[in-house]
Amino acid sequence: MSHIPLQPLYGLDKPQLLQLCQQLGVSEVHANTINGKVFRHAEFDIEHIPYFPQKLLHWLQQHTQADLPAIVSQQQSTDGTQKLLLRMQDGRDVESVLIQGTGRITQCISSQVGCAIGCKFCLTATAGLTRNLTTSEMISQVMVAHRTLGQYPRNIVLMGMGEPLHNYAHVAQFVQMLTDPQGMAFSPRRVTISTAGLVPAIARMIDDDLPCSLAVSLNATTDSVRSQIMPINQKYPLASLLNVMQQYIQSRKRKRIFVEYVMLAGINDSLDDLNRLIPIMKNLNSTINLLPFNPFPGSGYQRPSEETVNLFRDTLNAEGIVAVVRESKGQEISAACGLLKTEVNQRAAAKMQQRSVVS
Ligand code: SF4
Repeated sequence: MSHIPLQPLYGLDKPQLLQLCQQLGVSEVHANTINGKVFRHAEFDIEHIPYFPQKLLHWLQQHTQADLPAIVSQQQSTDGTQKLLLRMQDGRDVESVLIQGTGRITQCISSQVGCAIGCKFCLTATAGLTRNLTTSEMISQVMVAHRTLGQYPRNIVLMGMGEPLHNYAHVAQFVQMLTDPQGMAFSPRRVTISTAGLVPAIARMIDDDLPCSLAVSLNATTDSVRSQIMPINQKYPLASLLNVMQQYIQSRKRKRIFVEYVMLAGINDSLDDLNRLIPIMKNLNSTINLLPFNPFPGSGYQRPSEETVNLFRDTLNAEGIVAVVRESKGQEISAACGLLKTEVNQRAAAKMQQRSVVS
């Protein structure tokens, strides 16, 4: 007998649920019921949903599965940040981080197993890309967070493993499901996609009017430095990136854009860099997050001095630019920005370390 794989329940978005109700000949109102109970209220057992037509319940029981990824490990740092290592159905592991802020929790979601973008300062990049995550695998990370915390986190950022815009179709569907007012009902202001700068995909976000905020990892003020630390810049140079960011801002008046700037000592933290950054930021009229680099073994980069970081922040602030120093949380459990790693990239990091010892 051939085995038909079950569909993941957490991958069914509103249009698919409506279609299912039509096919089964039950009232479309039950699409809202599933949306409300399963996604909004995180009801993990569909048998407990009242007034649910038997036909629909039976179909879902026969054709879908609602298993959440197993939590392989759960580490908590002294600042309250929790790193969850989650095992997907095919045995691949990804990390999801619950970052403790003042009175709110932000979940950092992975969008891929590994990453193909190859930023030189990023530990995830050392493993390369294994595969994209599906919509349901991203929704499942949020459902696991609900089960862990007893409620949904306040903010969702796609800043975990992977380049979200390299997995556009699934990420766009994920964002639509997160912000569906009858479903999980996250405010679009509380969902942020972070990109290394895939220009055509940002343009597609504009066309699709994707309901979320955008963060762009700028990290340099010249093409030569940016190409050195972010190879994607060779394909989409600074001018094209800044241009599409302008288009994004102009097209979406109430939506936000953030600029991320990972500060690497001796690479992008000079006074010249600062002086070039000022007009760029004035033009964008956006907030910039300054992220002092977290060195990892074999990375070859150093963290800038506190004095340099503060000089960047204070000078930008004096120029009327909102600049905030973001200290990565959860550093001792490797949950900090650019430090997410699975066993695969732990091995890659070890290889890098060996190479750096040999050379
Ligand atoms: S910083 Fe982000 S885009 Fe760059 S390699 Fe790492 S995970 Fe990929």
